[in-house]
Amino acid sequence: MAGSGGTPCASCKLLRRRCTAECVFAPYFPAEEAQRFAMVHRVFGASNVSKMLQEVPAAQRADAVSSLVYEANARVRDPVYGCVAAISFLQQQVSHLQMQLALAHAETSALQLQLQDERQQHILVQNAHHQLMLQEACLKQESMWT
Ligand SMILES: [Zn+2]
Repeated sequence: MAGSGGTPCASCKLLRRRCTAECVFAPYFPAEEAQRFAMVHRVFGASNVSKMLQEVPAAQRADAVSSLVYEANARVRDPVYGCVAAISFLQQQVSHLQMQLALAHAETSALQLQLQDERQQHILVQNAHHQLMLQEACLKQESMWT
């Protein structure tokens, strides 16, 4: 572990300083993940990251670090928009999918109306058929009497 005479964390190694037991980076940037820290340092600067981590409750620091790493990666990939590019892409996808959903709902209710209509027509046809059968039966009976 850091500060115990072992290997310094990725941050202290890159910044060439002694890694103490109080090192705020040590729990989140182990020596074997040098690239992770290098990226965050390049985008935010080590002292800013240190300040940010100190302002965050210890229980939330791991989440803060993964967020910073994610944002740094996005910023390196897209220096202009960073995470915003991903966010607006996803927002566009959401509104596109919402539109498709609304269309599907409209189509469903149109089909339900059509189905209702067809059922009613089917009933009308069945009734008419029934009437014809009755009429036929009546005619047959009449011809038997005459
Ligand atoms: Zn350290």
